[in-house]
Amino acid sequence: MSPSKRFQPGYDPPARSRDTALLFAARGMDLLVSESEGQLTLPRASALPELAASAHFLGVLDDTDCYSVPLSGDFAPPEGMKTVPARSLYKQLDEVTFAVAGRALSVAEWEVNHRFCGRCGTPTQLVAGERARRCPVDHTPFYPRISPAVIVLITRGDQMLLARNATFPEPLFSTVAGFVDPGESLEETVHREAKEEVGVDLKELTYFGSQPWPFGRSLMVGFMAEYAGGDITVDGKEIAEARWFDVDDLPRIPPRLSIARHLIDTFIDRVKARRGLPPG
Ligand SMILES: [Zn+2]
Repeated sequence: MSPSKRFQPGYDPPARSRDTALLFAARGMDLLVSESEGQLTLPRASALPELAASAHFLGVLDDTDCYSVPLSGDFAPPEGMKTVPARSLYKQLDEVTFAVAGRALSVAEWEVNHRFCGRCGTPTQLVAGERARRCPVDHTPFYPRISPAVIVLITRGDQMLLARNATFPEPLFSTVAGFVDPGESLEETVHREAKEEVGVDLKELTYFGSQPWPFGRSLMVGFMAEYAGGDITVDGKEIAEARWFDVDDLPRIPPRLSIARHLIDTFIDRVKARRGLPPG
């Protein structure tokens, strides 16, 4: 396995030429890619000099500068390029580059949403040294928006509770998740979402880890929790179905790179360790 790439984030663009830089050109949650013989790759800035000139510096991936730029609504991809949902690139990109792509979407969205001050309408200006724009009149700062969300794997003995979201394009089962309401602690969100989505009470919440998920403009904060009571009930609208699953008899679960999958895989390894089986 090749060593993983390193990304060093930055704000102020270096003085060197942008020609060899990777350009993450975003429209909503889509990214512009080059297509050659069925292979999708990220374009170099030299292929799109006008876009590159106004792009935001993201940082350096190994030795390559990375820039992000929003595409206007009427942008027509040049020959050999097209826009694709950024999420779908997880198969083509390594984990580190995929994370940079997510960052790029957030930065492009921030650029589009905060060109003008939301308070007085004056064009905003970039602030050096941070990811911020500021109104020159009333000095209101505008930062990229991040919406925290919790994600929790609910367990009972060797079983886990997984739910099938009615809106998933594919019939897969995942962990319970939801956005944090204003004024709520992360723990309160976990309890509320578990009750709302699958009707159960929880105990023994433990923090698992977090994952930026810019494809949903969010930061996913992961927990493990034990079932404390209640019968599984779903609303049939947001959640179509929820069930207990044994680690030996799992349905289709989320793909690699997602924190939902990390939670599920971690629990499977714990159960196997309890049963004296090798992990994986
Ligand atoms: Zn203003």
